[in-house]
Amino acid sequence: MKWSGQLNTETIDRVVREAGKETERSGAESESRLRFRLSLEEMLLNCREQCTEEAVFTLRMVRRGRCLAAELLLPEQYREDPAAPEDPLVRLRREWKRGTGRRKNSWLYTVSTERSFAELIRFIWNYTRPYKRWLLFVVLAQALRAAIQVIVPLISARVIISITDKATEQILLTAVILLVVNVISDVNFIFCNLAYNSVYNKTLTLLEEDLAHHALRITIQSVDRKGSGPFIQRLTQDTAQLASSLSALVDVISQFVEKIGILVAILIMDRVAFAVVAAILVLQVVIENIRTIRMKRDDQLFRNANERYTGFVNEMVRGMKDMKLADSENAFESEMVKRIREANHRRLKMWNHSAVYNLIRLLIESAGTFGFISVLVLLLVKGHIQPAEALVLFNYRSGIQLTTIQLIGAILQLIRETELSAERILAIIGGPEFPKETFGPRHLNRVEGEIRFEHVYFSYDRKYTRNPSGWVMKDMDFAIHAGETVALVGASGSGKSTILSLISKLYVASRGVVRIDGVDIRELDRETIRGHISVVTQNPYLFQMSIRDNLRLVKPDLTEDEMRDACRMASIDQDIMAKPEGYDSLIDENGVNFSGGQRQRLAIARALLKDSSVLILDEATSALDNVTQKKVWQAISAVGQSQKTVIIVAHRLSTVAGADRILMIDQGRVLDQGTHQELLARCGAYRRLYEAETESDAEQVQGRSG
Ligand code: ADP
Repeated sequence: MKWSGQLNTETIDRVVREAGKETERSGAESESRLRFRLSLEEMLLNCREQCTEEAVFTLRMVRRGRCLAAELLLPEQYREDPAAPEDPLVRLRREWKRGTGRRKNSWLYTVSTERSFAELIRFIWNYTRPYKRWLLFVVLAQALRAAIQVIVPLISARVIISITDKATEQILLTAVILLVVNVISDVNFIFCNLAYNSVYNKTLTLLEEDLAHHALRITIQSVDRKGSGPFIQRLTQDTAQLASSLSALVDVISQFVEKIGILVAILIMDRVAFAVVAAILVLQVVIENIRTIRMKRDDQLFRNANERYTGFVNEMVRGMKDMKLADSENAFESEMVKRIREANHRRLKMWNHSAVYNLIRLLIESAGTFGFISVLVLLLVKGHIQPAEALVLFNYRSGIQLTTIQLIGAILQLIRETELSAERILAIIGGPEFPKETFGPRHLNRVEGEIRFEHVYFSYDRKYTRNPSGWVMKDMDFAIHAGETVALVGASGSGKSTILSLISKLYVASRGVVRIDGVDIRELDRETIRGHISVVTQNPYLFQMSIRDNLRLVKPDLTEDEMRDACRMASIDQDIMAKPEGYDSLIDENGVNFSGGQRQRLAIARALLKDSSVLILDEATSALDNVTQKKVWQAISAVGQSQKTVIIVAHRLSTVAGADRILMIDQGRVLDQGTHQELLARCGAYRRLYEAETESDAEQVQGRSG
């Protein structure tokens, strides 16, 4: 397909729409289609900004294997400007690869239509590769097992022939060989299982750890959009599903191999001496019974450990924002690794116990086979059966055909299940569906705390960046000096929290630049941004661990004195000490056993502990009573006087009246700025906000006295 036209809105809209349809026809998933359309639109709009509307472009799309290649030929005037790290350009440059040499004006984009099975196998192999020796052992053991299963019926046939010949010595000798071969087969089976379980368990551990690592780095925007469901499902259900389908697959394949040999022998046993087979069966059932009781207990322990892990994953997603802001990904990750390992260790233990019982069961079966042949000998010697009757036992081959077909069906189904789980997991690890946060290379050892917004535009949804009504922030331009205490005030929804999110790079400006200490925030690394900025929100997230461990998340080497000092400053020490277990008290899920005010104060203590250059408080004391609020503000003022930059968003103007400067925010831009007195004198909107607050306070006082 090929389109050409001038860079006017009409043509751009038409080409984008038709190119979108082309991706739909080629079977690309909806996420990739949307990304391509948005990227193409931005690319063309970007080009229009540099060139004129009359300039001509060409788009060509061709299918290449499982991908769709889009080639965009832009006018010569279009150039990339490496000096301008404008966000859309940075992203576009990553998405569109520029041609070289004579094709300098051509830009290439590849839309992935689906992942190949080979790609998925390669993906799983990445996690299995470290254990390839074990895997080789599994393959060799399986091969030995298959060989034995072919040999066993042959030996059995030898026994039968010997029986017809009444060569008793020969019979017993072959039976002994059969016993030895069976024991080797059983031991081989168990070792093969142990090795397989080990490979499976280690692979799963690596996979889950890697998945946790990647999930922690997904952008907040993507988490906002997707919700927690896909994360919880994919991190817990799909990894388990992938592992269990893989395990079932190996199991079914080995059954398949085994059936061909073993079934014949077992069918023979059933027919000849039912009593012997029944006795063996009863014994096996008894062992199986003991095994299941034991397994149930082991399974319980495993599930408990697994629940602790799953619960933590849930918390990770819900508390992701606070965790990122507290720069505690590493502490969180090590706790996660601990829980992953505990759960998987429990599972391995469960399997090992099960393997021991399987060994006993199989040995009984082998002994039973020996006993069964001995009975045959006895029957022959006593003349109860004729040699010809023994031969009849070979005729029970029907049914195997059916089993084989069923097994092939099961193998195919399992391959599909494995494929599906692998695809869903891969999407989190490396797919475009879950973009990861990106940071620049620049590291600042010291951050003074100067913050600057230069003509910043922002929209939460990329789709609306062309539509002026979609901007949450429009030409935001202000500076906060290092060491200053600045308050942001304005009506709810005016964009105050969005400013704070852009400072801590939870979101990235759609246009314009945010600078920290004069450096574009997009050039700075994660530690410089998150390590030097502390944020306390209105509903801070406390994790389901002790108070001490919650505080340790921001400072792993926390001392008792530091902890108590910070809590005293945040006026929460007394509340904690009043609890029977003090700082070791456990915080329930979502902090439900703490009041809103206590949670806020704990979060303030956590932020104070981080000792960062910039302290951001977003309605952080809204749930406190007046007396406590006053005390906490005194502590915060002390921080403000210690050369730290403090940025406050507070609903009550009386709490921010003492700030060095107040920015009045209105509909995504700075309406006015100055001290409380200056704004009262000249800013009507500010005065109205202040008067409304004083009036409502007076009404409340009246209401109480009335
Ligand atoms: P304020 O802090 O002044 O109350 P916010 O910065 O929270 O305002 O919100 C500004 C605008 O952005 C509001 O219209 C709000 O609905 C919207 N908004 C805030 N957060 C999100 C989000 N995560 N996704 C989409 N829109 C959002």
